[in-house]
Amino acid sequence: MQTVKQSLTKQPSDDTWLVPSFVDRHCHPLFAAREMAALDISHCRNLSELLEVLTQHLRANPELKWLDATAFDYAASQDFLATTLDTVSSQIPITLHSNDHHALWVNSAALRVAGLFEQVPDLSHGEIVVDASGAPSGLLLEWNAMKLVLDKQPTPSLEEDLAHLKRAQDKLRAAGISACSDAWIDPGMGEVYLEAARRKLLTMPVELWVRVSQENSYEQLSYMRELIALQQASEHSNLVKIAGIKIFLDGVLSAKSAWVLDSYQDGSFGSQIWHDSELLQLLRSLAEISPKLMPHFHAIGDAAVRQALDTIAVARAMNLWSTECRPVVAHAELVATADCSRFAELDVEVVISPQWLAKDTQEDNLREILQANVIERVGDFAQLVEANAHLTYGSDWPVSDPQPLRAIEVGVNHLMQRGYSPAQATKIMWRVCGPK
Ligand SMILES: [Zn+2]
Repeated sequence: MQTVKQSLTKQPSDDTWLVPSFVDRHCHPLFAAREMAALDISHCRNLSELLEVLTQHLRANPELKWLDATAFDYAASQDFLATTLDTVSSQIPITLHSNDHHALWVNSAALRVAGLFEQVPDLSHGEIVVDASGAPSGLLLEWNAMKLVLDKQPTPSLEEDLAHLKRAQDKLRAAGISACSDAWIDPGMGEVYLEAARRKLLTMPVELWVRVSQENSYEQLSYMRELIALQQASEHSNLVKIAGIKIFLDGVLSAKSAWVLDSYQDGSFGSQIWHDSELLQLLRSLAEISPKLMPHFHAIGDAAVRQALDTIAVARAMNLWSTECRPVVAHAELVATADCSRFAELDVEVVISPQWLAKDTQEDNLREILQANVIERVGDFAQLVEANAHLTYGSDWPVSDPQPLRAIEVGVNHLMQRGYSPAQATKIMWRVCGPK
């Protein structure tokens, strides 16, 4: 408010500006910018085009040690075989990211460097797709499987990542975003933000959420402690806030890994990643570090959303958190009607991505995997508006572009289809996307 007042009382001059801006509460700027540096294959409409683009790129860059490209459409191929990509190169690892960011299509060289031909490990979540003989065929589903290969990829240097972060911030600012949350921080990434702040290269406030998985939760919480200590030791880090931890409670609808209450057409229910007791234990450990550190849940299916709410209810009852802090549930694509009122009761922030919801609800693919009565409920955030949930906007960039004005347009249309007047719908979307 102070800035607004000062701007209004000052005489207008060239250096006085008052413009509306937006907050992106869930995006992945560093990943997105790293991805912008990868080869763009999103325009390839079929397999032959795709193979041609990859081949030309290798020919033009003979020094390349690893070919990373993004993002392929699931319509690009029938079978996503490593042998198909081996026709481009059987020596240099090739990794192609899917456009929903939940699958990786790789060649044999990539499977080899990850040691997957010697042994296919059992995963608690995700899948290494195998052929009839049990050997990995070239498709890795969900992060636990994808990381087995991506961990072997040369990581960007700090200087490279600082350049990536600059490009990411430029893009966010150009879209009118003046603050953001990076909803997936792994070791090495938080340091990039802190170093950018130290060099005065950070141009907006950022919240960092450290990703925690079951396999490595102890190490990941230790990393968060280190990051907090680093931040406290730095004089220039007031734009960086270490907000808490990111926890995946399920996957995505398109891969049938979102955890749902009503089964998919094939009778499956998606994947539950955490047991309730483990989740609560994790939140206890987090609160021991600080009662101001919050969980940021990735929950897409209604069963995962319910688990997030149940866990938050227990944590609130135990007074684990400072009362002014809000836990976050991101995506919430499917929410059981009975759960809608619980967001306001438990004071939970729900981050929605209208562009992503629009894409998912139009997706023909969903018609083939979800039951008809469930499809109607996908992305119905109007019921959350009715229930007074604290809704905010997150682009989930690079999954969708950080364009809050486009998100407002999509959201307004969505609400108007559900009976809201244009004025009401615009007001709601403005409230969702604007600064809080
Ligand atoms: Zn995300």
